[in-house]
Amino acid sequence: AKAAGRDTWRFYTPAMNEQALEQLQLRTLLRRALEQRQFVLYYQPQIDLASGALVGVEALVRLQREDGAIMAPGQFIAAAEDSGLIVPLGEWVLREACAQAMRWQQQGLPALTVAVNLSAVQFRRGDLLHSVTQALTDAGLAPQRLELELTESILIDDAEQMIDQLRRLKALGVCLSIDDFGTGYSSLAYLKRLAVDKLKIDQSFVRDIAGDPDDAAIVRAIISMARSLKLQVIAEGVETADAATLLRMHQCHEAQGWHFARPMPAQDLPGWLEQYQGR
Ligand code: C2E
Ligand code: CA
Ligand code: CA
Ligand code: CA
Repeated sequence: AKAAGRDTWRFYTPAMNEQALEQLQLRTLLRRALEQRQFVLYYQPQIDLASGALVGVEALVRLQREDGAIMAPGQFIAAAEDSGLIVPLGEWVLREACAQAMRWQQQGLPALTVAVNLSAVQFRRGDLLHSVTQALTDAGLAPQRLELELTESILIDDAEQMIDQLRRLKALGVCLSIDDFGTGYSSLAYLKRLAVDKLKIDQSFVRDIAGDPDDAAIVRAIISMARSLKLQVIAEGVETADAATLLRMHQCHEAQGWHFARPMPAQDLPGWLEQYQGR
């Protein structure tokens, strides 16, 4: 849709102006939000299906506007990537997520891993190895407590350069997981060679697993292939008890989704955990 829009701009200038203006306003808004510390992280629990225990959280960024309104990442991540602002934003996310994981540890919460989403732009334009090392050191967090979520698109981009960066990250001791798995093209054998630790089954296959036999078959196949390659598997978008039960039956290791909890501000996690453990 974007490409088509671009072609029509030549013939229809008002649309170009409007769209370009919107982009510019969004970039200005993002730059200011970064300066004024208006970004916040929400955290969504990840559950070990065999034991039911909370084992990790995924950090998901939001923009909190002055009027209190919350902007979801779907509204600004693409613009942050196009403008390069994702590099400083991504660095902030890494630092904040590691610092928060350390705070929970000091509060006596059970050992958690914190998962952070990375954009391909951070690999291309940032010094990711340095950002990750710095975030871990400054927080005093053990590398094993940090998980980096990558999409398969990162790997297609510039394979040699990416593989090298992944190896170095991996050598730090952090955990690497492939987000939205099943929507890209990489083979499991290839991922295994890259020293990936974990697959995150895309929510589009998980959401209706209890109602759609095709989705169920795909999820089962991914779990069994991953397990035979000794990879961890997590399902996201688990919205119902039935879905959770099926995934447990198929020996999926972990699950994440509204059935357990929605993403929440950091200060809500201890209270949520108390309720969850007591139920
Ligand atoms: P994602 O990494 O695939 O994150 C999962 C998204 O699914 C989140 O949306 C989460 O709130 C939502 N979700 C979780 N459980 C359920 C469920 O049971 N049902 C449904 N329908 N949805 C569920 P969110 O927070 O709006 O994030 C959207 C996307 O924005 C993320 O998709 C990720 O690609 C990107 N994103 C978020 N934070 C960051 C970040 O710090 N850096 C980068 N580069 N991207 C980020
Ligand atoms: Ca974990
Ligand atoms: Ca993710
Ligand atoms: Ca995902």
